[in-house]
Amino acid sequence: MQLTSASDAEELGMTSQPARERLTERLRRMGISHPEVLEVMGRMPRHSFVDEALASRAYDDSALPIGWGQTISQPYIVARMTEILLAGPRRDRVLEIGTGSGFQTAVLASLVRRVYSVERVADLKEQAERRLRALKLRNVRLRHGDGAQGWPEYAPFDGILVTAAPPRVPRLLADQLGCGGCMVTPIGTAPEQFLLRLVRTRSGWRHEMLEPVSFVPFLEGTC
Ligand code: SAH
Repeated sequence: MQLTSASDAEELGMTSQPARERLTERLRRMGISHPEVLEVMGRMPRHSFVDEALASRAYDDSALPIGWGQTISQPYIVARMTEILLAGPRRDRVLEIGTGSGFQTAVLASLVRRVYSVERVADLKEQAERRLRALKLRNVRLRHGDGAQGWPEYAPFDGILVTAAPPRVPRLLADQLGCGGCMVTPIGTAPEQFLLRLVRTRSGWRHEMLEPVSFVPFLEGTC
């Protein structure tokens, strides 16, 4: 069957609450256990963050194209990175690098006090801004810029979440992590990409390689 619009998908129940509940159940089976993360994943309208033509696939556990050669991250990975980030001691100020569709931003905004998010593609940043406004998520500030610079005006951050894979941790970003703060980032080039957790301690940084992942590359400059 060929679905032509978001309203077709809606009529068939593919963007409705049951579809979100099926996704949450799948995330739970895959090992996501943080109750607040599961609750937010269960109510966030992911279909509002993709093109209408893809709305029927919004609750599949897969990455989807969002234009400009980029993708909205797979729901499992959004939930997993958020869960790792929330294990840190504070959730006052979180920096995200790679706003993309704004979906991960919206999930974070529902769980922490303030989210700052940097996107290098101006059109994506503007689109995400409209979506976040429509959802009345007002504790988010977006910036068009190169995420390698972080956002020094608002540093230090309790958490930094990076949604594109750099070859190594950008030094300026690590410097913007507050003491006890945690950074979650993919690292490396496919097929050798891993999720990395970096915690800032009083004397430096402690890092831990987690599972293999597959992310779009972290790119230099803006467009
Ligand atoms: N969290 C987003 C993921 C989008 S894909 C979502 O689920 O929709 C990764 C995003 O990172 C892309 O939008 C890409 O443009 C952006 N990106 C890549 N390198 C960047 C950089 N150096 N600074 C800021 N954004 C970057």
